Amino acid sequence: MIDVITIDGPAGSGKSTVSRLLAKRLNYIYLDTGAMYRAVALAAERKDIGIYESNKLKELCRSIDLRYKTDEDPPRLLLDGQDISAAIRTPSMDMLSSSISSVKEVREAMAILQRTISKGARVVAEGRDMGTIVFPEAEHKFFLTASHEVRAERRYRERLQRGESASMFHVSEEMKTRDLQDENRFLSPLKPAKDAVLIDSTLLSPDEIVEKIIRHLKK
Ligand code: C5P
Repeated sequence: MIDVITIDGPAGSGKSTVSRLLAKRLNYIYLDTGAMYRAVALAAERKDIGIYESNKLKELCRSIDLRYKTDEDPPRLLLDGQDISAAIRTPSMDMLSSSISSVKEVREAMAILQRTISKGARVVAEGRDMGTIVFPEAEHKFFLTASHEVRAERRYRERLQRGESASMFHVSEEMKTRDLQDENRFLSPLKPAKDAVLIDSTLLSPDEIVEKIIRHLKK
């Protein structure tokens, strides 16, 4: 599967920025699968559906009206026609999306959607299980890591840039909880695919990581 490049990794590893830059550079579609889980979490919250209501969540995923506006940079995500790009980036959506993504019915529906979107397209697919579960046959797989301190600091700065008040301590603690949840869940835990190239982004800029990836693609 030469037209799908997978980029997985934990929060704050730089994978969103890198995936977006890489997709732009190669003229590929950027598939932000974390945003999809976040949108399901937001839709569930708005409809008052709890994470243990698996049948309702299954139905929600079946009927969800989710659209990407890729003509804008960064791309906008619409739920029922309404722009939810900012609403899905709150601390509570960080945690709820992580919890809801451990529900089997939600994962199954999202994996189908992700494969459908990618069929016949050139895609940079970013998430937690792109290389392991959704596109195991992809030829080019990358897994980004970075020290916890650097990842937490990146998130902290993102929050400040958005004009939110944040404490470094809380961002760091929330990140630890989410990492633990994502790495230890039964279904599709966050881990590198056996054939993924590991890149430590601690001391690298997004452009440097993109260059590294492009060098691998040319090999
Ligand atoms: O990448 P992002 O932080 O936006 O993802 C939000 C949450 O969605 C993650 O904490 C993770 O639990 C979940 N997720 C997932 N599988 C993916 C992408 C994201 O489980 N492929």
